[in-house]
Amino acid sequence: MQNTQIIIIGGGLAGLTAAIHLCRSNLQVVLLEKENYPHHKVCGEYLSQEIIPYLEYLELDLSSLKAPKIDRLRYSTVSGKLIEANLEMGGIGVSRYSLDHLLYTKAKNAGCELINSLATEIEYNNQNFRVTTADGKIIQSQFVLGAFGKRSNLDKKLKRKFIQDQSGWLAVKAHYKAEIYPENLVSLHNFQGGYCGLSRTDLNTINVCYLATYESFKNQKNTGEYKEQVLMKNPHLNEFFQLAEMDFKKELSIAQVCFDKKSLIENHILMIGDSAGLIHPLCGNGMAMAIHSAKIAAENLLSFYNDRNKTRRDIENNYRKEWNQHFRSRIRTGRILQKILLNKSFANISQGVLNKIPGLLPQIIKRTHGKKVHV
Ligand SMILES: Cc1cc2nc3c(=O)[nH]c(=O)nc-3n(C[C@H](O)[C@H](O)[C@H](O)COP(=O)(O)OP(=O)(O)OC[C@H]3O[C@@H](n4cnc5c(N)ncnc54)[C@H](O)[C@@H]3O)c2cc1C
Repeated sequence: MQNTQIIIIGGGLAGLTAAIHLCRSNLQVVLLEKENYPHHKVCGEYLSQEIIPYLEYLELDLSSLKAPKIDRLRYSTVSGKLIEANLEMGGIGVSRYSLDHLLYTKAKNAGCELINSLATEIEYNNQNFRVTTADGKIIQSQFVLGAFGKRSNLDKKLKRKFIQDQSGWLAVKAHYKAEIYPENLVSLHNFQGGYCGLSRTDLNTINVCYLATYESFKNQKNTGEYKEQVLMKNPHLNEFFQLAEMDFKKELSIAQVCFDKKSLIENHILMIGDSAGLIHPLCGNGMAMAIHSAKIAAENLLSFYNDRNKTRRDIENNYRKEWNQHFRSRIRTGRILQKILLNKSFANISQGVLNKIPGLLPQIIKRTHGKKVHV
Protein backbone atom coordinates (compact mmCIF):
# COMPACT_ATOMS: atom_id res chain seq x y z
CA MET A 1 0.00 0.00 0.00
CA GLN A 2 1.38 3.38 -1.05
CA ASN A 3 0.12 6.84 -0.05
CA THR A 4 0.29 10.09 -1.98
CA GLN A 5 -1.56 13.39 -2.21
CA ILE A 6 -2.74 13.11 -5.82
CA ILE A 7 -3.07 10.20 -8.24
CA ILE A 8 -3.35 10.98 -11.94
CA ILE A 9 -4.67 8.19 -14.14
CA GLY A 10 -3.49 8.51 -17.74
CA GLY A 11 -0.25 10.02 -18.97
CA GLY A 12 -1.33 11.75 -22.18
CA LEU A 13 -1.23 15.54 -22.58
CA ALA A 14 -3.72 16.31 -19.82
CA GLY A 15 -2.31 13.93 -17.20
CA LEU A 16 1.34 14.84 -17.79
CA THR A 17 0.62 18.58 -17.80
CA ALA A 18 -1.26 18.36 -14.50
CA ALA A 19 1.60 16.30 -13.05
CA ILE A 20 4.21 18.92 -14.03
CA HIS A 21 2.11 21.82 -12.70
CA LEU A 22 1.43 20.11 -9.35
CA CYS A 23 4.97 18.78 -8.83
CA ARG A 24 6.45 22.23 -9.49
CA SER A 25 4.42 23.36 -6.45
CA ASN A 26 5.85 20.50 -4.40
CA LEU A 27 2.75 18.35 -4.22
CA GLN A 28 3.18 14.58 -4.13
CA VAL A 29 1.93 13.04 -7.36
CA VAL A 30 1.76 9.47 -8.67
CA LEU A 31 0.84 9.07 -12.34
CA LEU A 32 -0.31 5.76 -13.82
CA GLU A 33 0.08 5.19 -17.55
CA LYS A 34 -0.52 1.85 -19.24
CA GLU A 35 1.72 2.45 -22.31
CA ASN A 36 5.48 2.97 -22.60
CA TYR A 37 6.99 6.22 -23.91
CA PRO A 38 7.55 7.30 -26.62
CA HIS A 39 4.73 6.11 -28.82
CA HIS A 40 2.62 7.38 -31.69
CA LYS A 41 -1.03 8.28 -31.08
CA VAL A 42 -4.03 8.88 -33.31
CA CYS A 43 -4.20 12.69 -33.53
CA GLY A 44 -4.10 15.43 -36.17
CA GLU A 45 -0.97 16.86 -34.43
CA TYR A 46 -1.84 20.50 -35.07
CA LEU A 47 -1.24 22.27 -31.75
CA SER A 48 -2.93 25.66 -31.44
CA GLN A 49 -0.73 28.60 -30.42
CA GLU A 50 -3.25 29.45 -27.69
CA ILE A 51 -1.59 27.02 -25.29
CA ILE A 52 2.09 27.79 -26.05
CA PRO A 53 2.47 30.55 -23.40
CA TYR A 54 1.31 28.12 -20.70
CA LEU A 55 3.69 25.38 -21.90
CA GLU A 56 6.47 27.99 -21.80
CA TYR A 57 5.45 28.84 -18.22
CA LEU A 58 5.92 25.14 -17.41
CA GLU A 59 9.40 25.50 -18.99
CA LEU A 60 8.76 22.94 -21.67
CA ASP A 61 11.49 23.29 -24.27
CA LEU A 62 9.25 23.20 -27.35
CA SER A 63 11.93 24.89 -29.47
CA SER A 64 14.03 21.71 -29.15
CA LEU A 65 11.44 19.94 -31.31
CA LYS A 66 11.81 22.29 -34.29
CA ALA A 67 8.12 21.95 -35.06
CA PRO A 68 6.95 23.77 -38.22
CA LYS A 69 4.80 26.88 -37.72
CA ILE A 70 1.38 26.67 -39.34
CA ASP A 71 -0.59 29.78 -40.29
CA ARG A 72 -2.71 28.78 -43.28
CA LEU A 73 -5.80 26.58 -43.63
CA ARG A 74 -6.95 24.85 -46.83
CA TYR A 75 -10.39 23.27 -46.83
CA SER A 76 -12.03 21.27 -49.63
CA THR A 77 -15.46 19.72 -50.20
CA VAL A 78 -15.94 16.11 -51.32
CA SER A 79 -15.82 17.21 -54.97
CA GLY A 80 -12.61 19.15 -54.36
CA LYS A 81 -13.83 22.78 -54.27
CA LEU A 82 -11.15 24.67 -52.38
CA ILE A 83 -11.15 27.55 -49.95
CA GLU A 84 -8.11 28.98 -48.13
CA ALA A 85 -7.73 31.30 -45.17
CA ASN A 86 -4.99 32.65 -42.93
CA LEU A 87 -5.10 31.37 -39.36
CA GLU A 88 -5.01 34.41 -37.10
CA MET A 89 -3.48 32.64 -34.13
CA GLY A 90 -2.09 29.60 -35.97
CA GLY A 91 -0.28 26.65 -34.47
CA ILE A 92 2.61 24.24 -34.78
CA GLY A 93 2.84 20.78 -36.30
CA VAL A 94 4.10 18.54 -33.52
CA SER A 95 3.96 14.74 -33.37
CA ARG A 96 2.46 13.13 -30.28
CA TYR A 97 5.51 10.87 -30.32
CA SER A 98 7.69 13.89 -29.49
CA LEU A 99 5.28 16.06 -27.50
CA ASP A 100 4.10 13.39 -25.04
CA HIS A 101 7.69 12.24 -24.58
CA LEU A 102 8.86 15.79 -23.85
CA LEU A 103 6.11 16.18 -21.23
CA TYR A 104 6.91 12.76 -19.77
CA THR A 105 10.58 13.69 -19.30
CA LYS A 106 9.59 17.02 -17.76
CA ALA A 107 7.14 15.35 -15.34
CA LYS A 108 9.78 12.84 -14.28
CA ASN A 109 12.34 15.59 -13.71
CA ALA A 110 9.79 17.63 -11.75
CA GLY A 111 9.51 14.77 -9.23
CA CYS A 112 6.40 12.95 -10.37
CA GLU A 113 6.39 9.22 -9.69
CA LEU A 114 5.43 7.58 -13.00
CA ILE A 115 4.19 4.02 -12.84
CA ASN A 116 3.82 2.04 -16.04
CA SER A 117 0.63 0.15 -15.23
CA LEU A 118 -3.06 -0.09 -16.03
CA ALA A 119 -5.41 1.26 -13.36
CA THR A 120 -8.25 -1.19 -12.92
CA GLU A 121 -10.28 0.08 -9.94
CA ILE A 122 -10.95 3.40 -8.23
CA GLU A 123 -12.81 3.45 -4.93
CA TYR A 124 -13.76 6.53 -2.91
CA ASN A 125 -14.44 6.26 0.78
CA ASN A 126 -14.12 8.62 3.75
CA GLN A 127 -12.44 11.45 1.79
CA ASN A 128 -9.86 9.04 0.38
CA PHE A 129 -9.29 7.26 -2.90
CA ARG A 130 -7.91 3.78 -3.35
CA VAL A 131 -6.63 2.95 -6.83
CA THR A 132 -5.72 -0.63 -7.82
CA THR A 133 -3.50 -1.50 -10.76
CA ALA A 134 -3.45 -4.58 -13.01
CA ASP A 135 -0.26 -5.80 -11.32
CA GLY A 136 -1.83 -5.66 -7.89
CA LYS A 137 -0.48 -2.34 -6.53
CA ILE A 138 -2.77 -0.33 -4.29
CA ILE A 139 -2.26 3.42 -3.99
CA GLN A 140 -4.20 5.76 -1.69
CA SER A 141 -4.64 9.50 -2.16
CA GLN A 142 -6.71 12.51 -1.27
CA PHE A 143 -7.53 13.41 -4.90
CA VAL A 144 -7.70 11.59 -8.24
CA LEU A 145 -7.51 13.25 -11.65
CA GLY A 146 -9.11 11.17 -14.42
CA ALA A 147 -6.95 11.78 -17.50
CA PHE A 148 -7.61 8.49 -19.25
CA GLY A 149 -8.64 9.90 -22.64
CA LYS A 150 -11.55 9.32 -24.97
CA ARG A 151 -12.47 5.79 -23.88
CA SER A 152 -10.99 3.63 -21.16
CA ASN A 153 -11.66 0.50 -19.12
CA LEU A 154 -12.35 2.86 -16.21
CA ASP A 155 -15.26 4.54 -18.03
CA LYS A 156 -16.94 1.13 -17.99
CA LYS A 157 -16.05 0.55 -14.34
CA LEU A 158 -17.51 3.93 -13.43
CA LYS A 159 -20.59 3.17 -15.56
CA ARG A 160 -20.28 6.54 -17.29
CA LYS A 161 -23.32 7.35 -19.38
CA PHE A 162 -21.57 8.00 -22.71
CA ILE A 163 -19.97 4.54 -22.72
CA GLN A 164 -23.34 2.85 -22.98
CA ASP A 165 -24.08 4.40 -26.39
CA GLN A 166 -22.42 3.01 -29.51
CA SER A 167 -20.44 5.75 -31.19
CA GLY A 168 -20.43 5.88 -34.96
CA TRP A 169 -16.89 7.20 -35.54
CA LEU A 170 -13.47 5.69 -36.12
CA ALA A 171 -10.14 7.44 -36.67
CA VAL A 172 -7.04 6.43 -38.64
CA LYS A 173 -3.60 8.01 -38.75
CA ALA A 174 -0.19 7.52 -40.38
CA HIS A 175 2.84 9.62 -41.23
CA TYR A 176 3.86 10.08 -44.86
CA LYS A 177 6.91 11.35 -46.70
CA ALA A 178 6.31 13.80 -49.55
CA GLU A 179 8.35 16.67 -50.96
CA ILE A 180 5.46 18.74 -52.18
CA TYR A 181 3.56 19.61 -49.00
CA PRO A 182 4.05 23.21 -47.68
CA GLU A 183 5.42 23.73 -44.13
CA ASN A 184 2.88 26.31 -42.98
CA LEU A 185 -0.31 24.61 -44.17
CA VAL A 186 -2.96 22.55 -42.44
CA SER A 187 -5.45 20.99 -44.87
CA LEU A 188 -8.87 19.61 -44.16
CA HIS A 189 -10.32 17.57 -47.03
CA ASN A 190 -13.85 16.19 -46.91
CA PHE A 191 -14.78 12.81 -48.31
CA GLN A 192 -18.05 10.88 -48.29
CA GLY A 193 -18.50 10.03 -44.60
CA GLY A 194 -15.69 12.00 -43.00
CA TYR A 195 -12.74 14.34 -43.32
CA CYS A 196 -8.98 14.04 -43.43
CA GLY A 197 -6.40 16.44 -41.98
CA LEU A 198 -2.87 16.89 -43.32
CA SER A 199 0.00 18.87 -41.79
CA ARG A 200 3.76 18.66 -41.40
CA THR A 201 5.33 17.50 -38.13
CA ASP A 202 8.62 17.96 -36.27
CA LEU A 203 9.65 14.48 -37.55
CA ASN A 204 9.86 15.84 -41.11
CA THR A 205 6.80 13.84 -42.05
CA ILE A 206 3.27 14.73 -43.03
CA ASN A 207 0.67 13.55 -40.60
CA VAL A 208 -2.45 12.21 -42.28
CA CYS A 209 -5.32 11.62 -39.89
CA TYR A 210 -8.94 11.02 -40.76
CA LEU A 211 -12.22 10.58 -38.97
CA ALA A 212 -14.90 8.45 -40.64
CA THR A 213 -18.35 7.12 -39.88
CA TYR A 214 -18.81 3.35 -39.58
CA GLU A 215 -21.64 3.71 -42.02
CA SER A 216 -19.23 4.84 -44.75
CA PHE A 217 -16.64 2.23 -43.78
CA LYS A 218 -18.74 -0.89 -43.57
CA ASN A 219 -18.73 -1.79 -47.29
CA GLN A 220 -14.91 -1.71 -47.57
CA LYS A 221 -12.63 -4.58 -46.55
CA ASN A 222 -9.84 -2.56 -44.94
CA THR A 223 -8.30 0.90 -44.61
CA GLY A 224 -6.32 0.42 -47.86
CA GLU A 225 -9.48 -0.18 -49.82
CA TYR A 226 -11.30 2.62 -47.99
CA LYS A 227 -8.49 5.01 -48.91
CA GLU A 228 -8.72 4.09 -52.59
CA GLN A 229 -12.48 3.85 -52.87
CA VAL A 230 -13.56 6.73 -50.64
CA LEU A 231 -10.79 9.17 -49.59
CA MET A 232 -9.17 9.36 -53.02
CA LYS A 233 -12.45 10.46 -54.61
CA ASN A 234 -11.50 13.89 -53.30
CA PRO A 235 -9.04 15.10 -56.00
CA HIS A 236 -6.71 16.77 -53.45
CA LEU A 237 -6.39 13.59 -51.38
CA ASN A 238 -5.97 11.63 -54.59
CA GLU A 239 -3.09 13.88 -55.66
CA PHE A 240 -1.46 13.63 -52.24
CA PHE A 241 -1.66 9.83 -51.95
CA GLN A 242 -0.34 9.42 -55.51
CA LEU A 243 2.82 11.35 -54.61
CA ALA A 244 3.36 10.46 -50.95
CA GLU A 245 4.86 7.38 -49.38
CA MET A 246 3.72 6.00 -46.01
CA ASP A 247 6.37 6.24 -43.30
CA PHE A 248 4.61 3.87 -40.84
CA LYS A 249 4.65 0.08 -41.21
CA LYS A 250 0.94 0.12 -40.46
CA GLU A 251 -1.71 2.80 -39.92
CA LEU A 252 -2.89 3.37 -36.34
CA SER A 253 -6.61 3.31 -35.72
CA ILE A 254 -9.07 3.81 -32.90
CA ALA A 255 -12.73 2.90 -32.77
CA GLN A 256 -15.77 4.29 -31.01
CA VAL A 257 -14.64 7.91 -30.93
CA CYS A 258 -17.39 9.64 -28.99
CA PHE A 259 -18.29 13.34 -28.97
CA ASP A 260 -21.18 13.07 -26.50
CA LYS A 261 -21.40 15.21 -23.39
CA LYS A 262 -19.49 13.71 -20.44
CA SER A 263 -19.69 14.32 -16.71
CA LEU A 264 -16.87 16.54 -15.43
CA ILE A 265 -16.79 14.93 -12.01
CA GLU A 266 -17.56 11.29 -11.38
CA ASN A 267 -17.47 9.81 -7.89
CA HIS A 268 -15.32 12.84 -6.85
CA ILE A 269 -12.77 12.19 -9.62
CA LEU A 270 -12.00 15.42 -11.50
CA MET A 271 -12.00 14.57 -15.22
CA ILE A 272 -9.50 16.39 -17.42
CA GLY A 273 -8.65 16.30 -21.14
CA ASP A 274 -10.74 13.99 -23.31
CA SER A 275 -12.09 12.24 -20.19
CA ALA A 276 -14.05 15.45 -19.58
CA GLY A 277 -15.11 16.08 -23.18
CA LEU A 278 -13.82 15.97 -26.74
CA ILE A 279 -14.24 18.74 -29.29
CA HIS A 280 -14.63 17.72 -32.94
CA PRO A 281 -11.10 17.37 -34.31
CA LEU A 282 -11.76 19.66 -37.28
CA CYS A 283 -11.54 22.58 -34.81
CA GLY A 284 -7.87 21.70 -34.26
CA ASN A 285 -7.70 22.51 -30.58
CA GLY A 286 -8.48 19.35 -28.59
CA MET A 287 -4.85 19.19 -27.46
CA ALA A 288 -4.84 22.82 -26.31
CA MET A 289 -8.09 22.25 -24.43
CA ALA A 290 -6.79 19.05 -22.79
CA ILE A 291 -3.71 20.93 -21.56
CA HIS A 292 -5.79 23.94 -20.48
CA SER A 293 -8.22 21.75 -18.51
CA ALA A 294 -5.23 20.21 -16.70
CA LYS A 295 -4.11 23.73 -15.75
CA ILE A 296 -7.55 24.57 -14.35
CA ALA A 297 -7.68 21.33 -12.32
CA ALA A 298 -4.12 21.77 -11.03
CA GLU A 299 -4.80 25.37 -9.94
CA ASN A 300 -7.93 24.28 -8.10
CA LEU A 301 -6.09 21.50 -6.28
CA LEU A 302 -3.33 23.93 -5.34
CA SER A 303 -5.91 26.33 -3.92
CA PHE A 304 -7.17 23.47 -1.72
CA TYR A 305 -3.70 22.84 -0.27
CA ASN A 306 -2.96 26.57 0.11
CA ASP A 307 -6.23 27.58 1.78
CA ARG A 308 -7.41 25.64 4.83
CA ASN A 309 -10.95 26.99 4.41
CA LYS A 310 -11.45 25.33 1.04
CA THR A 311 -13.44 22.09 0.96
CA ARG A 312 -13.56 19.31 -1.63
CA ARG A 313 -16.96 20.63 -2.61
CA ASP A 314 -15.54 24.12 -3.31
CA ILE A 315 -12.87 22.60 -5.53
CA GLU A 316 -15.34 20.48 -7.47
CA ASN A 317 -17.82 23.35 -7.95
CA ASN A 318 -15.14 25.76 -9.04
CA TYR A 319 -13.54 23.27 -11.44
CA ARG A 320 -16.93 22.60 -13.06
CA LYS A 321 -17.65 26.33 -13.33
CA GLU A 322 -14.31 27.21 -14.91
CA TRP A 323 -14.37 24.25 -17.30
CA ASN A 324 -17.81 25.27 -18.58
CA GLN A 325 -16.76 28.92 -18.89
CA HIS A 326 -13.82 28.02 -21.10
CA PHE A 327 -14.99 25.05 -23.15
CA ARG A 328 -18.76 24.49 -23.26
CA SER A 329 -19.63 26.89 -26.07
CA ARG A 330 -16.57 25.89 -28.10
CA ILE A 331 -17.61 22.24 -28.03
CA ARG A 332 -21.12 23.24 -29.08
CA THR A 333 -19.79 25.34 -32.00
CA GLY A 334 -17.61 22.38 -33.01
CA ARG A 335 -20.68 20.10 -33.14
CA ILE A 336 -22.59 22.54 -35.37
CA LEU A 337 -19.59 23.03 -37.64
CA GLN A 338 -19.11 19.32 -38.04
CA LYS A 339 -22.78 18.86 -39.01
CA ILE A 340 -22.55 21.58 -41.65
CA LEU A 341 -19.27 20.44 -43.14
CA LEU A 342 -20.25 16.78 -43.33
CA ASN A 343 -23.54 17.46 -45.05
CA LYS A 344 -22.84 17.55 -48.80
CA SER A 345 -25.38 20.22 -49.78
CA PHE A 346 -24.77 22.34 -46.66
CA ALA A 347 -21.02 22.14 -47.28
CA ASN A 348 -21.40 23.38 -50.88
CA ILE A 349 -23.73 26.23 -49.90
CA SER A 350 -21.59 27.29 -46.94
CA GLN A 351 -18.47 27.17 -49.07
CA GLY A 352 -20.13 29.48 -51.59
CA VAL A 353 -20.92 31.92 -48.78
CA LEU A 354 -17.40 31.65 -47.33
CA ASN A 355 -15.91 32.35 -50.75
CA LYS A 356 -17.98 35.52 -51.08
CA ILE A 357 -17.16 36.75 -47.56
CA PRO A 358 -13.44 36.01 -47.02
CA GLY A 359 -13.43 37.29 -43.42
CA LEU A 360 -16.09 34.79 -42.32
CA LEU A 361 -13.99 31.62 -42.09
CA PRO A 362 -11.40 33.16 -39.70
CA GLN A 363 -14.33 34.40 -37.56
CA ILE A 364 -15.83 30.88 -37.35
CA ILE A 365 -12.44 29.38 -36.48
CA LYS A 366 -12.07 31.99 -33.74
CA ARG A 367 -15.30 30.79 -32.10
CA THR A 368 -13.83 27.31 -31.57
CA HIS A 369 -10.63 28.68 -30.04
CA GLY A 370 -9.88 30.59 -26.86
CA LYS A 371 -7.51 33.42 -26.00
CA LYS A 372 -3.84 32.65 -25.40
CA VAL A 373 -3.51 30.86 -22.06
CA HIS A 374 -1.20 32.64 -19.61
CA VAL A 375 -0.67 32.02 -15.92
C1 LIG B 1 -9.00 11.87 -35.25
C2 LIG B 1 -8.57 12.89 -34.27
C3 LIG B 1 -7.78 13.96 -34.69
C4 LIG B 1 -7.38 14.94 -33.77
N1 LIG B 1 -6.61 15.99 -34.20
C5 LIG B 1 -6.28 16.96 -33.36
C6 LIG B 1 -5.48 18.08 -33.80
O1 LIG B 1 -5.03 18.14 -34.95
N2 LIG B 1 -5.21 19.05 -32.90
C7 LIG B 1 -5.66 19.01 -31.62
O2 LIG B 1 -5.37 19.94 -30.86
N3 LIG B 1 -6.37 17.96 -31.15
C8 LIG B 1 -6.70 16.95 -31.99
N4 LIG B 1 -7.41 15.87 -31.53
C9 LIG B 1 -7.77 15.81 -30.11
C10 LIG B 1 -6.59 15.34 -29.25
O3 LIG B 1 -5.97 14.21 -29.81
C11 LIG B 1 -7.06 15.02 -27.84
O4 LIG B 1 -7.88 16.06 -27.39
C12 LIG B 1 -5.90 14.81 -26.87
O5 LIG B 1 -5.18 13.68 -27.24
C13 LIG B 1 -6.40 14.66 -25.44
O6 LIG B 1 -5.35 14.31 -24.57
P1 LIG B 1 -5.65 13.48 -23.23
O7 LIG B 1 -4.45 13.58 -22.41
O8 LIG B 1 -6.97 13.87 -22.67
O9 LIG B 1 -5.86 11.98 -23.74
P2 LIG B 1 -4.80 10.95 -24.32
O10 LIG B 1 -3.69 11.64 -25.00
O11 LIG B 1 -5.61 9.95 -25.09
O12 LIG B 1 -4.21 10.25 -23.02
C14 LIG B 1 -4.92 9.33 -22.24
C15 LIG B 1 -3.91 8.35 -21.66
O13 LIG B 1 -4.52 7.54 -20.67
C16 LIG B 1 -3.96 6.25 -20.73
N5 LIG B 1 -4.92 5.35 -20.05
C17 LIG B 1 -6.20 5.08 -20.38
N6 LIG B 1 -6.76 4.28 -19.48
C18 LIG B 1 -5.82 4.01 -18.56
C19 LIG B 1 -5.80 3.24 -17.36
N7 LIG B 1 -6.88 2.60 -16.93
N8 LIG B 1 -4.66 3.17 -16.65
C20 LIG B 1 -3.54 3.82 -17.06
N9 LIG B 1 -3.48 4.57 -18.18
C21 LIG B 1 -4.63 4.68 -18.90
C22 LIG B 1 -3.80 6.01 -22.24
O14 LIG B 1 -2.84 5.01 -22.50
C23 LIG B 1 -3.37 7.39 -22.71
O15 LIG B 1 -1.97 7.54 -22.78
C24 LIG B 1 -7.80 14.86 -32.42
C25 LIG B 1 -8.58 13.78 -31.98
C26 LIG B 1 -8.96 12.81 -32.89
C27 LIG B 1 -9.81 11.66 -32.43
